[in-house]
Amino acid sequence: MQITENTSLKIYNTFGIEARAKLFGIIENSGDVQTCLPLIKEANQTLLIGSGSNILFTSDFDGLVLVNRILGKKVVVENEDEVLLRVYGGENWSDLVDFTVEQGWGGIENLSLIPGTVGAAPVQNIGAYGVELKESLVSLEAVDLNSGEVIQLTNEDCGFSYRSSIFKTTFKGRFLILSVLFKLFKKPTLNLSYGPLKAAFAERNEDEVSVKEVSEAVKSIRRSKLPDPEELGNAGSFFKNPVVPFSKLEKLVAQFPDVPFYKVDDKNFKLAAGWLIEKSGWKGKRFGDAGVHEKQALVLVNYGNASGKEVYELSEKIKESVKSNFGIILETEVTII
Ligand code: NAP
Repeated sequence: MQITENTSLKIYNTFGIEARAKLFGIIENSGDVQTCLPLIKEANQTLLIGSGSNILFTSDFDGLVLVNRILGKKVVVENEDEVLLRVYGGENWSDLVDFTVEQGWGGIENLSLIPGTVGAAPVQNIGAYGVELKESLVSLEAVDLNSGEVIQLTNEDCGFSYRSSIFKTTFKGRFLILSVLFKLFKKPTLNLSYGPLKAAFAERNEDEVSVKEVSEAVKSIRRSKLPDPEELGNAGSFFKNPVVPFSKLEKLVAQFPDVPFYKVDDKNFKLAAGWLIEKSGWKGKRFGDAGVHEKQALVLVNYGNASGKEVYELSEKIKESVKSNFGIILETEVTII
């Protein structure tokens, strides 16, 4: 594999931000990872990326950037009910969903059209329309970058939670995910619980709805409100949805009776960050080339030549205003570099 110096990362992040990596390489197989281990030890920092769809560069990266492009997928076990499918980390996530849907295998159809790679998906336990990656992930294979050892981690080992895992917290940067083992179902139970999906199939008997139809509905809903990174730089939801205790929710509802909320457990409720941002007046606002998407306030966009700093500064202003309007501190979902 080739390691290059002072490499532009513009095509390696879906925000389309210009930033340079001191050292840069593309990993195509597990041998490449082993080749890189000495470099990783020497570099003062290493950043692993898939398609760069959840990252914002606010400066050049003074270290080693490695892009995971390990490709391949194979059926490990198949019977009349289920399929165990191993998929390598550099595969495109959305293409994988399309492949499973074409086979009629259910489990990840609600996660259609999410930008990113298979190896990056466990890092933040990607989720959409009531389904999370952790529900179909059996285990994964990763290289421990400290020792070079290849290890197997079970679903439980990964410490999945809402848009997070050990790969984003305790063991950030420690493991390179080589492959993921998925369990998919031939007679799946569909999840049509989210409003737009429920509405799309309101007239139908749920038993007759196919995974392909669900996938098509998710794609159509996403296309109607979320920008395509190929056309407009963005990294999906910029902030996480905040979770608040009942006491806080009660106060909010008294002040803003139309605030949407969803029960997480007996004590906690999830609020829609997009709603808080929209109510604070940010939806569709543009400052130079950095802006808030006109159809979904949770998504920050780069209209062309925004710098990472400009997008970051915009995100900080949004946080301040949501805090002053609602007393809620938004957390960033995107990784800021
Ligand atoms: P939306 O329909 O405008 O709803 C706003 C938020 O309310 C969502 O983020 C969702 O939380 C929550 N919500 C809506 N219906 C719910 C229900 N029945 N039960 C529990 N929570 C509910 O959301 P959107 O922005 O168009 O996104 C639709 C889905 O795609 C969401 O699941 C969202 O997370 C996902 N998505 C993720 C990204 C990303 O970059 N991570 C980007 C775009 C969309 P949850 O986020 O917890 O589902």
